[in-house]
Amino acid sequence: MPDLVIRNGRVVDPESGHDGIADIAIADGRVVAIAPGLDAGDREIDAAGLVVAPGFIDLHAHGQSLPADRMQAFDGVTTALELEVGALPVAQWYETQARTRRLLNYGTATAWLFARKAAMIGLAPDATGSSLAAMGHGADNPRWSREAATPAEVERIVGMIRDGIEQGGLGIGIPYAYAPGAAAKEMSLVCDLAAATNTPTYTHIAQMSNIDPKSSVEAYVMLIGLAGATGAHMHICHLNSTSLQDVERATQLIAKAQAQGLNITTEAYPYGTGSTVVSAAFFDDPAFPARTGTGFGSIEMLGERRTLRDRDDLDRQRADNPSALVLWHFLDIDGNARHRELLDRSVMFPGGAIASDAVPWSNPDGSLYEGDEWPLGDDKSSHPRSAGTFTRFLRQWLRERQALSLSDAIAKCSLIPAQIMESCAPAFRRKGRLSAGADADIVVFDLDSIGERASFARMNLPAEGMRHVLVGGTPIVADGQLLLDAAPGKPLRRGDR
Ligand SMILES: [Zn+2]
Repeated sequence: MPDLVIRNGRVVDPESGHDGIADIAIADGRVVAIAPGLDAGDREIDAAGLVVAPGFIDLHAHGQSLPADRMQAFDGVTTALELEVGALPVAQWYETQARTRRLLNYGTATAWLFARKAAMIGLAPDATGSSLAAMGHGADNPRWSREAATPAEVERIVGMIRDGIEQGGLGIGIPYAYAPGAAAKEMSLVCDLAAATNTPTYTHIAQMSNIDPKSSVEAYVMLIGLAGATGAHMHICHLNSTSLQDVERATQLIAKAQAQGLNITTEAYPYGTGSTVVSAAFFDDPAFPARTGTGFGSIEMLGERRTLRDRDDLDRQRADNPSALVLWHFLDIDGNARHRELLDRSVMFPGGAIASDAVPWSNPDGSLYEGDEWPLGDDKSSHPRSAGTFTRFLRQWLRERQALSLSDAIAKCSLIPAQIMESCAPAFRRKGRLSAGADADIVVFDLDSIGERASFARMNLPAEGMRHVLVGGTPIVADGQLLLDAAPGKPLRRGDR
């Protein structure tokens, strides 16, 4: 007898294109049968009137903690990966996570940036805390950010990254815009390593600007060049934010490179506001307002919820706490029709994944919150995408605008991200699908009510419409309620089968 049968739901498998009413039987954490009229299971979920789909795989999740997992569970996420930044040492990161309670499956890439800090200023890498917060470390000696590495340093950087991949890192995180001083010889060797180990790189392109030189387009051309020159799989993080107002040109270039067989993939999140640390190198540019089409008033301190006045204000905040999180409102998607169109183009880019770039939850004083209160208090802040990326995409693009089919929408949340990870970790071949043998990472949701509730005014509201969420066959959300004691999340490492 199966452990669980999900009965009479509208079962969507984006791989086969199946979209019809069926039952799903689950045993030992895997799907064992999908057909109408299956025999009874030990437990049953009545999914009549609901969509049953593979759980969402978030390629860009910086939260990596219990409160972050819980908020993402209501967004349909069953696997949350820290790929853009990554971690170092990788073995220490997995050991640390294994000692915490994780709802969602988890994994990390190897952190190029932290290898750089270690090799260039002697900052010992530490994977026991938040990778995003560690982006601000070493601000007092920004050589690691601004300068090209010497050949000896490059050798050490590549060596540390190789260690991380051997310890199970899911590829190489390259938040290039945080160390734009890194130059082509170093990057070509890093990408050589990615190609040799059959692991993707995940790049936040080196610079963001609508204006040459050092434009976003220039950075994409370099990334495309690295894919062609080294054979590495180059994954582009948040196409929506780093392209600024050049989304159209960026997507033309990427599509042309893909059509020539280069291994380039993309992701986007459905918001016009980003999040980062206040010390991010891309705020350094004296011409930041002109080059990005924004101003210092577009940068908002997350702790205080106030926008910056000018460069002096920015400099003071950086000196005070370089790891402080900020929001950056780079597109006005509520007030500007062209900006809405730019966002749409990046979200709808063919073959692109939806990924949240979810950030950790913070206390009012800006420190990270890693406790277990539920519901999460009104004083906790993050970014609405940490609670509502996938459900916002399903609400706006699928239900309200019908810009794509249900199966294609589910593919962008599950199958496409799984496929991006498969060469690195074959275990992803059992994720992002609903067929016999697949992992029972499953979401059951109400298409009529699915949607985010979190907003910039109230970030702590979980999304609505997720009725049941299973990770490896274990419920973490049941009848729309969080199961407080659940912790079925498992690690995913390079080479896992
Ligand atoms: Zn990110």
